[in-house]
Amino acid sequence: MQFIDLHLQYQSIKSDIDSAISEVIENSSFIGGAHVEKFEERYAQTLKVKHCVSCGNGTDALYLALRTLSVQSGDEVITTAHSWISTSETITQAGGKVVFCDTEPDYFCIDPEKIEQHITSRTKGIVVVHLYGQPANMKRIMEIASRHKLWVIEDCAQAHLAQYDGQFAGTFGDIATFSFYPGKNLGAMGDAGCLVTNQSEYADYARLLARHGGKNVHKIEGINSRMDSLQAAILNVKLPHLQAWTKLRRQHAAHYDALLANTPNLTYPSVREGCQHAHHLYVIRAGDRDALRTHLKSEGIPSLVNYPKALPYYPAYARLGHTPEDFPVAHRHAQEILSLPLYPELPTENLKRVADSVIRFQNGDSDQRRSVAA
Ligand SMILES: *Cc1c(COP(=O)(O)O)cnc(C)c1O
Repeated sequence: MQFIDLHLQYQSIKSDIDSAISEVIENSSFIGGAHVEKFEERYAQTLKVKHCVSCGNGTDALYLALRTLSVQSGDEVITTAHSWISTSETITQAGGKVVFCDTEPDYFCIDPEKIEQHITSRTKGIVVVHLYGQPANMKRIMEIASRHKLWVIEDCAQAHLAQYDGQFAGTFGDIATFSFYPGKNLGAMGDAGCLVTNQSEYADYARLLARHGGKNVHKIEGINSRMDSLQAAILNVKLPHLQAWTKLRRQHAAHYDALLANTPNLTYPSVREGCQHAHHLYVIRAGDRDALRTHLKSEGIPSLVNYPKALPYYPAYARLGHTPEDFPVAHRHAQEILSLPLYPELPTENLKRVADSVIRFQNGDSDQRRSVAA
């Protein structure tokens, strides 16, 4: 069993993918052009936003968004302690100062109740992450942002088509960023990313930045970050399937929930009320996560830890000198979380095998605990 089997998806749309790829090669127009324009248009339509600016990957999209919102040296940007490092490293790259905030006990997203304690006169914005596909609490976050006149970037790398209050994740803040890394819910066959926004001045500036400050105009110094035509053509084939794939993810997650309910010493992921989760990852919490993981491995079942530490505790942030008490929830979650295989094409029998193995271990585990206690 594999944690994710990308080949199954390719097989299901093989002829469309193959002809899109050979068409690009036949025309030998590899950068820019019709496929890229079409993708930008269609992705914006899908999310019901005005602008989509394609770029090289989801990390570049965050960097471009931060530069577009003109982070200056000394500016503080608040972000979640629990994410992939792209979310925070780009704040530093853009010239800002990373200020971490703890996460919600049940949903793994930045905790709005703890944001205000980090706001100072230098705070300029908040980067929220819809982690694992769960929408962050956008109502509370946008209230806080508007009260303190802060901008908001939504990192939607794991949240394609997630919804909060009937509205797509990525349409609440000033700019939202997406990754189309192959394993993401909408995956290219290489690196690709984009940002979306309803503000045309932001879209124009981000595009300028991503294209060397404008071809042969060079109004500013930019970077080189583009989605190539092959990736755009592939994404154009995949985009019409995204809704059905997301629905399958939701069905699989519900199936896991039903199977894992009432398992001792285990918490399955809850979905925030009023939200539609995108289920990029299915992340359970287990009392003895490492032992469970070893047991699963011994039965040939792959699992991942996303992520082994909360961001403030990696060597990259040693300079901030944080202790576990600073972000107790994110710190505790890092010891408990375990991602189980979940992707649209996941065969039902595999899903059952995974759940059975988890349940068997947790039952045995708690029996052992009881006998030790007795
Ligand atoms: C994948 C990911 C990114 C970065 O995307 P890339 O395309 O790999 O650069 C950023 N943030 C989060 C939360 C991610 O999961």
